Amino acid sequence: MSTTEQRVAVVTGGARGIGAATALRLAADGNKVAVIDLDEAACQSTVQAVKDAGGTALAVGADVSDSAQVEAAVERVVAELGAPTVLVNNAGVLRDNLLFKMSEGDWDTVLNVHLRGSFLMTRACQKHMVDAGYGRVVNLSSSSALGNRGQANYAAAKAGLQGFTKTLAKELGKFGITANSVAPGFVVTDMTAQTAERVGMGFEEFQAAAASQIPVQRVGRPEDIANAVAFFASPDAGFVSGQVLYVAGGPLN
Ligand code: NAP
Repeated sequence: MSTTEQRVAVVTGGARGIGAATALRLAADGNKVAVIDLDEAACQSTVQAVKDAGGTALAVGADVSDSAQVEAAVERVVAELGAPTVLVNNAGVLRDNLLFKMSEGDWDTVLNVHLRGSFLMTRACQKHMVDAGYGRVVNLSSSSALGNRGQANYAAAKAGLQGFTKTLAKELGKFGITANSVAPGFVVTDMTAQTAERVGMGFEEFQAAAASQIPVQRVGRPEDIANAVAFFASPDAGFVSGQVLYVAGGPLN
């Protein structure tokens, strides 16, 4: 693909963790990448890493759960990089607690960032994909979609994203747009560090305990997830849509 034909990919929550690894990988695959996160300054390390590797990237600060900020962010991407035809809905937060202790605020925050955020971002980007007759939407679900103690809010959001993905696949397929979900198991990021803290374990000990339960006997790295996202985000995946791929070092029930 020549530079003039480069696609524009948007990665939310791209300042760190899985989003940062995904932004780098999509840039290496030839996409210009818009890195969206709550704090624009926090996106700079990802943007610099893309540039250092010879790619093109833009930092954009936006809260994905706020429709005005989402609309403004996508308009900025269009103006500065071009119309986005690849979208990775990756931004996420945890507000874990057992149901009887979970506040309405904890429920709303998690549902708003994961579900409402993916809805708003996809709605804002889809018109550009429809105009292009081409699009790739990848939503980050989780093994927690199958149920996880202390995560009623997060599990509901991540299961909801699977239904959202399948519906996008059905509605948007005729415009050349595919939608798929990647559902990671345990991946070493700030998010799992936060979970270790919640359950009162050191992060190394927590990782070792998780690895012992995983068939490949190791925990995931952000790049493991980026590799799966990159396939769904590629032109080669045009006949794969509405799927959920668990990337967890083994099968899940
Ligand atoms: P992470 O290290 O915590 O990074 C998440 C990023 O999302 C942060 O940079 C965060 O910004 C940003 N973010 C949060 N709320 C946002 C909002 N409203 N608008 C824009 N950006 C926002 O998480 P991760 O582990 O890389 O996870 C990435 C995705 O994979 C999430 O959807 C997560 O649920 C999913 N996942 C992760 C794992 C795992 O084991 N790590 C497993 C399954 C699924 P701030 O730093 O400013 O908060």
